[in-house]
Amino acid sequence: MDQWEQSGYPVRSILRILGKHGLLHKSFSIEFGGEGLSLWHNVILQEELSKIPAGSIGMLVATHLDIVSSMLARYGSTKIVTSWIPKAIKGEVVLSLALSERNAGSDLTSIDTHYIKDGDKYVLSGEKWFITNALHADGFVFLLEKTQ
Ligand SMILES: Cc1cc2nc3c(=O)[nH]c(=O)nc-3n(C[C@H](O)[C@H](O)[C@H](O)COP(=O)(O)OP(=O)(O)OC[C@H]3O[C@@H](n4cnc5c(N)ncnc54)[C@H](O)[C@@H]3O)c2cc1C
Repeated sequence: MDQWEQSGYPVRSILRILGKHGLLHKSFSIEFGGEGLSLWHNVILQEELSKIPAGSIGMLVATHLDIVSSMLARYGSTKIVTSWIPKAIKGEVVLSLALSERNAGSDLTSIDTHYIKDGDKYVLSGEKWFITNALHADGFVFLLEKTQ
């Protein structure tokens, strides 16, 4: 921990180490490179990580794995799932959840970050904060105001 703290906030290397030892992929389906095992493997991983005297370790792994990767694997399009999940569960990319806003914490109905479609792109407009892994993330799942 002392070395990790001196080197900054080593999200990337922590996920890579866990991925290398096969600790991230167990509950994900075999078609994405997982083992298709029970979610209890993730619970045990979190229990063990909680023993490290630094709360941020469990939090960064839970956000990347149990919130964002699980959400994407379940609800993402085939293109997104096949391009992100195999790398995410090897710890090769960092994923983050952009939900909270200055005026919307627990109250998701107050979110006002939104998107407009511009040709084949989506342009986001708004402000998010308190985002775990944000400075290190390769990809984000955004919760946005419903447009239409
Ligand atoms: C360590 C950490 C990591 C985080 N990581 C992320 C992240 O990765 N991505 C992200 O998007 N956000 C993240 N957050 C932000 C987190 O999601 C918000 O802090 C959380 O949603 C609560 O919002 P808030 O702080 O604005 O509190 P509020 O929503 O303003 O709530 C304040 C208080 O009011 C109570 N309350 C709220 N609504 C009601 C109600 N209707 N009735 C009764 N009581 C109510 C709450 O229980 C709480 O006690 C993180 C926060 C922490 C502390």
